[in-house]
Amino acid sequence: MSTHDQVVQMSRTIGEPALDAVILGEGNTSIRVDGDTFLVKGSGCQLASITQEDFVHLRFDRILALLDRGAVSEAELVAAYESAKVDPAQKRRPSVETLFHAICLSLPGVDAIAHTHPQAVNALTCSTAYPSALEGRMFPDEAVVLGPASVFVPYLDPGLTLARAIHTGVMEYGQRYGAAPKVVYMQNHGVIALGKNTTEAINITMMAIKAARIRLGALTAGGIRTLPESVIEHLINRPDEKYRAKLIATGAGGAGSTGGSR
Ligand SMILES: [Zn+2]
Repeated sequence: MSTHDQVVQMSRTIGEPALDAVILGEGNTSIRVDGDTFLVKGSGCQLASITQEDFVHLRFDRILALLDRGAVSEAELVAAYESAKVDPAQKRRPSVETLFHAICLSLPGVDAIAHTHPQAVNALTCSTAYPSALEGRMFPDEAVVLGPASVFVPYLDPGLTLARAIHTGVMEYGQRYGAAPKVVYMQNHGVIALGKNTTEAINITMMAIKAARIRLGALTAGGIRTLPESVIEHLINRPDEKYRAKLIATGAGGAGSTGGSR
């Protein structure tokens, strides 16, 4: 399947109304094309009905250069996004959240990004219990699919300010865990799934939604009981769980599969 086809399929899957991850023009997706470029959703497009033409092909270097600049005006941001277009004739404007896509796709082992605003996740990111209600891991599949821990960022203006905080968060996570995170939660905003491919990005999104629903249920049933860190580490490093995680992430258990029964 072409890179374009893969990102369209992922976008439509997470845009399905039944998943309750986005409505209207919410959310955005991206995929690495090669070492220098990536595709990102155009501003204002709807994920559920997206087509290849709705994606903008951009160069990483022009976008990532924004990280090292001081203050950048809205006009400069738009100009930088324009200058990054592989085909300058392409009319569509890339998503305002393009910079964090470029940052996340630059991490080792990350080739596909799905950013959504799921109702269940945002019930928690918009609560006074953020981020504690989303911390830790409660059950084995959450640990296997979402990794040992999550990155949390406070509410910040979407665009450059938010992207810089995400950059700091994912870098700190990398220092601590020696790998890219699977999931980034943004206060009063939503979630970012970082996949090695589109199947994994879909799986992370689905598991983040399920985990949020369980957390909401647990909160009403007396509180969230997370697993001890030693148990999480053991689960993630078990050979059978590693094998299962690999099958799930490559879609060998069926595209978008959560791996079937344990
Ligand atoms: Zn968003």
